[in-house]
Amino acid sequence: MRKEYMMTPGPTPVPSEILLSQARPMFHHRTPAFTELLVSIEEGLKYVFQTKNDVLIFASSGTGVMESSIANLLSSGDKVICCSNGKFGDRLIKINEAYGTDIVKLEYDWDQVVKPEDIKRELDANPDVKAVYVVQSETSTGILNDVRAIGRIVRDYDAVLVVDSITGIGAVECKTDEWNLDIVMTGSQKGLMMPPGLACVAVSDKAWAAAEKSKLPKFYFSWKKAADSLHKPAPTTPFTPPVSLIVGLGEAIKLMRREGLENIIKRHAVLAEAARQGLEAMGLKLFAPVEGRGSAVTPVWVPDGVDGGKFVKLLKEKYGITIAGGQDHLKGRIFRIGHLGYFDKFDIMTTLAGVEMTLLELGYPITLGIGIQAAERVFMEN
Ligand SMILES: *Cc1c(COP(=O)(O)O)cnc(C)c1O
Repeated sequence: MRKEYMMTPGPTPVPSEILLSQARPMFHHRTPAFTELLVSIEEGLKYVFQTKNDVLIFASSGTGVMESSIANLLSSGDKVICCSNGKFGDRLIKINEAYGTDIVKLEYDWDQVVKPEDIKRELDANPDVKAVYVVQSETSTGILNDVRAIGRIVRDYDAVLVVDSITGIGAVECKTDEWNLDIVMTGSQKGLMMPPGLACVAVSDKAWAAAEKSKLPKFYFSWKKAADSLHKPAPTTPFTPPVSLIVGLGEAIKLMRREGLENIIKRHAVLAEAARQGLEAMGLKLFAPVEGRGSAVTPVWVPDGVDGGKFVKLLKEKYGITIAGGQDHLKGRIFRIGHLGYFDKFDIMTTLAGVEMTLLELGYPITLGIGIQAAERVFMEN
């Protein structure tokens, strides 16, 4: 028998409270019971997103709401600024390309943070920009972009600020309203501790004004349809919702309220710190620069002489621990340990122990337990 451990930054482990809640017998969505559930979830999402705005829910993975943030805000040929310092920033560019917008690209090396002053420069040079696209927590590299500073800039322009916070929400601070973030998006299989299948998007008044002018085609992913249904006397969804996932989301919000957002963010910061200290104690080099380290995922360089692909495979086959490798040009060169959502101290310890044993087996000189000790120290001090 071998136990499986999923230490990836999405999908993430799901607490049994949520799994069990989803086993509840099916009930119809045009009922007072569903409306009551939806209303309480709306309240809960506002708490989690730190916003007074509507948070719309769609049945899709995160990419669905990313796409909806183009279809609902823009018209063909509209100018946008797209920031990219990783795989998901690249995806924002690709979706914009698919919809035929006019893209001002701000591209960075994957170990760099997005520079807010570059956005200001491009906004000044391009007064017709309709939207600025940026990823808060770049899951491909663990880098945290400073969307607070970006929000402070974009609020003074006509452009709408669109933030992919898919591994930000529920892991790091993301103050939607206070930071002037017009659009904030997340997916269920990340910090919300849910199975994949739901995506949420918070929409500000400034964004609704932009949406009024948008001519790109939309139907299932129409924000207006979703908001209109939400504002009915008996709030509902325009189409059949994935009822079981919605029930699970209600449970997730209960768990998050019980822990408290502040504690959730603190827990993630401590887990990330323990992971970083543990890996550095093993002599490994962290990928993300000090000024851009997030709490959702810890990426680290594969040490010289170790085959990155073999390492991830052996960790899974021998110890049942699934971590993420690098993506695109970082494939085989970095590995990424997820600690986002339903993670606690001993998940980090388990992963670090597996990493140590696997590295040793692949010929990397290491004193067993050295990373564990460093992580233990972080936990005892926090
Ligand atoms: C997971 C993720 C997405 C969406 O990916 P899906 O597979 O469509 O859910 C988008 N952006 C970031 C930063 C992510 O981590």
